[in-house]
Amino acid sequence: MPICVISGYNFPAMSKTIFQKIIDREIPATIEHEDDQCIVIRDIHPQAPVHLLIIPKRVVARAAEATAADEPMLGHLFTVAALLAKKLNLGAGFRLVVNSGPNAGETVPHLHVHLLAGRRLHEPLG
Ligand code: 5GP
Repeated sequence: MPICVISGYNFPAMSKTIFQKIIDREIPATIEHEDDQCIVIRDIHPQAPVHLLIIPKRVVARAAEATAADEPMLGHLFTVAALLAKKLNLGAGFRLVVNSGPNAGETVPHLHVHLLAGRRLHEPLG
């Protein structure tokens, strides 16, 4: 299988990530929000009572690959997090997490923000 090497992180070259397939409606997901720049779905293996994935439609593999051109899109992901927090009544708080690379536990090479909420979240981070 062909291998991509980006910033020292090896992964099998894939024409479409699982998230791209969800965006393209090739596989199902529970969609909480969608706009021209991103989609928000429920994580299939939730780590908290509320576990959303905020996924940009324009693919950046991971935070380590982000460039200045991505700044408006990355900012939009935070605005959407705030929108979802209001929609789902998460006034008690929520946590945003982005895993970049193997040491962080990244499993899908399509940048996404985890939104976790619904209970007191564990400390410390990491
Ligand atoms: P990462 O580990 O890359 O930061 O996060 C990937 C997340 O995607 C994981 O929390 C995993 O449970 C979730 N995930 C993987 N495949 C699917 C899927 O097919 N559907 C949904 N809804 N979530 C998925």
